[in-house]
Amino acid sequence: MHKRSEVSVSRRSPLREILILGSGHWDNDDYDPDSRRAFLRAKKCKTAAMGGRIFASESEERVFYNTCKSPACPSCGHWATIQWQRERFCALPDGPYLEITLTMPNTLWDIFARNPRLRGKLPEIAARVIRSYARVRHGVEVGVMPVLHTFNGELLFKPHVHSLVTAGGLQAAGSRWNPRIFFDRGALVGSWQRLIIAILRDALETGQLELEGTRHEIEGLLNSEEAREWIAHVRSFKGKEHFLQYCGRYVRRPPIAQWRIIAIENGLVKFWHKDKRRKRWITVECTIEVFIDRWSQHIPKLYRHTVRHFGLFAPRRWPRVAAAIFTILGTKQRPRPKRLPWAVAVQKFRGNPLLDRYSQPMKFVRHLAASAV
Ligand SMILES: [Zn+2]
Repeated sequence: MHKRSEVSVSRRSPLREILILGSGHWDNDDYDPDSRRAFLRAKKCKTAAMGGRIFASESEERVFYNTCKSPACPSCGHWATIQWQRERFCALPDGPYLEITLTMPNTLWDIFARNPRLRGKLPEIAARVIRSYARVRHGVEVGVMPVLHTFNGELLFKPHVHSLVTAGGLQAAGSRWNPRIFFDRGALVGSWQRLIIAILRDALETGQLELEGTRHEIEGLLNSEEAREWIAHVRSFKGKEHFLQYCGRYVRRPPIAQWRIIAIENGLVKFWHKDKRRKRWITVECTIEVFIDRWSQHIPKLYRHTVRHFGLFAPRRWPRVAAAIFTILGTKQRPRPKRLPWAVAVQKFRGNPLLDRYSQPMKFVRHLAASAV
């Protein structure tokens, strides 16, 4: 006789708990459809509602429920992030890199929160700023991988772009590599600021800006932000690892790590947030509904690529220059990593999930249809 066991999530998952408790708030036709879709899938991840696969040995049968691959799912997101980091690590050349971070004043955050089409342009604008600086000042082309982050530690909408940039660049005329180029922070932030103000003015003039406040007020705001000094950071790294770890962490994951959630009680969520200026941890408390709305702002729109590549790394250019750059840098091109096997992805088991309790291998039997729950 088969003994049948079901394999679903048993680990505590505060984010899923918040979704379940707050479903009356987001699971309706008035809510943002992309967020609702992502939340629905995340809520069902690895449950009978997702369907699954049955594996069996002579003595045992086991059901593995399907994963959801939703951007709101902490476990699928964790998995997707690791795959992405491994894949980028192998694709990008070894050697020194820079991280260039371009930010904007908080008075403009809300405009980008309301205008997803405009915020989708931010990585491209960051790449354009960095590439033209390298071309004009140093006559070289660099590789740029900008990553848009839309949140801060309190889950508020704070759009900013972290870019991974090759520390050197390929000279326009030939195949010579300039090993280290200097980026002037002030010059970078100046062109970034001009371009951001310009796209906002353009959208305002053509009536394409979704906004709160009058046109006159926004014009005033843009004029004063144009005169103010914005902030940019340039950091250098020996390799790409740090950037992939730090900036890639939320590329395909929810914008908050589960351990930061301290308590969910009486309709309130309490979570940790690091105050970077004062260098200490503080607690933030808000209602479940407010938490979900903050989270929802950071769910990517369907079919939007989260990370694109520019300059030397541009998809059309990279295959033509990659071999030469690896030779110049004297590093080896790594083969594309194999996707980690499904048995590793499916659950964090002790040991191999496809061995029964007598250590006999279990074989795939059939798919299990999703059940209406
Ligand atoms: Zn999932």
